[in-house]
Amino acid sequence: MQRRKFLKSAGLGLAGAAATALSTTAMAQAPEIKWRLASSFPKSLDTIFGAAEGMAKRVAEATGGKFQIQVFAPPEIVPGPGVLDAVKDGTVQMGHSASYYFVGKDPTFAFDTAMPFGLNSRQQTAWMMQGGGLPLMRALFKDYNIYNIPLGNTGAQMGGWYRKEIKTVADLKGLKIRIGGFAGLVMARLGAVPQQITGGDIYPALEKGAIDAAEWVGPYDDEKLGFNKVAKYYYYPGWWEGGPQLSAYVNLAAWAKLPKEYQAILEAACYEAHADMQAKYDARNPVALKRLIGGGTQLRKFPDEVMHAAHAATLAQFADTATKNPRFKKVYDSWARFKDDQVAWFGIAERPFDNFVATAGQKNKSAK
Ligand code: CA
Repeated sequence: MQRRKFLKSAGLGLAGAAATALSTTAMAQAPEIKWRLASSFPKSLDTIFGAAEGMAKRVAEATGGKFQIQVFAPPEIVPGPGVLDAVKDGTVQMGHSASYYFVGKDPTFAFDTAMPFGLNSRQQTAWMMQGGGLPLMRALFKDYNIYNIPLGNTGAQMGGWYRKEIKTVADLKGLKIRIGGFAGLVMARLGAVPQQITGGDIYPALEKGAIDAAEWVGPYDDEKLGFNKVAKYYYYPGWWEGGPQLSAYVNLAAWAKLPKEYQAILEAACYEAHADMQAKYDARNPVALKRLIGGGTQLRKFPDEVMHAAHAATLAQFADTATKNPRFKKVYDSWARFKDDQVAWFGIAERPFDNFVATAGQKNKSAK
């Protein structure tokens, strides 16, 4: 009513009024749909859990409240690692997760999130949207009865929290570390004992000493989960996650039943939340890092020796997995070609720009 009045007073005439009436009629006839979404992430994280809630809110707004998606944190409907199966089996219509949690089913899932020494956030989105990544991932997810849509990226992550310092590769031997995805295979090659634990369960494991180290995301999330209270050393960079992407999963039958308009609204809302998540992390991480350091957290950079050993182990693991898994090889070949071009291009404009601004910025700061 408000809008119709506005259009009339704005003098848009019959055409405008007719269009409004048509859309109002269409809206009145739009079906009411209620879905459940199972998230793999704890409710306390407004960034990553909140992204699915933000998407659901936009879907409801854009459909005049007709299409409602209720978001559940684990273990309300299913535990965090059960999200993919729950969507596949139709227990829920939707899920939100990090696909590299499912490398046990197929290591190819890791390309949907992040690969060690791989793409940064911008490059991951470019590979998915414009570089052939999304069709490759959709072919994989189709075998699991799922239509996948990118929904968020955290940006480059930190390397996690350690009770003891990591000075050499030998310090990784026997280290029980919670780590996500394909990187677990690389950590195992380096002698560590990787543990797959979802977000909400990491703190108690680290507190009890059941694990020696844990990585999650970065300062803003890690502070909320309280890791700084139980481990002193905070390492960077998270060489296994230069730009990890999260994905929405939609059960294929549920997707097929959606009106075309709702499909378009749902995809648009996912992409909006995708950009919003990266913005949130970028805005909130530096502030949280200052608080952590102020509270006694000791920041450490992984030694070059550890970085080079991890890089070599990663390449060996890629080659091993590609030999055993033809699908992995097919995706890897596309991904690696894309990455090589990206690294070359970013080296010309982005990296020198970033480096200069960082260096000059520091000098100017100290000159004040
Ligand atoms: Ca992580």
